[in-house]
Amino acid sequence: MTVAFPCTKCGACCSAIEGIDFLAEYNVNGVCQHLVNNGCSIYESRPLLCRIDEAFETIFSTYMTKEEYYISNAKACNILQEQKGIDKKYRVTIGC
Ligand code: SF4
Repeated sequence: MTVAFPCTKCGACCSAIEGIDFLAEYNVNGVCQHLVNNGCSIYESRPLLCRIDEAFETIFSTYMTKEEYYISNAKACNILQEQKGIDKKYRVTIGC
């Protein structure tokens, strides 16, 4: 069974890219220049780091299971959302 990461499209991660070397060329005051109306304007050609499942297969699968990876990402999403004061309706929950 294929399960996708339940991104709620809050835009928090794309507006917190300060200090992320892989995204340095897109950084405008911490916000990705390709974030438009909380969506990615280069979605089909976005970098590997922004492709959660491909990033898992390419980088993180060596270190953890996919479930652990999703849970870790969801925790980071929710911490970032809380720091940015984003409405609770966007919180990410992993149903496993
Ligand atoms: S390239 Fe797209 S998905 Fe990646 S940080 Fe920028 S807006 Fe977000």
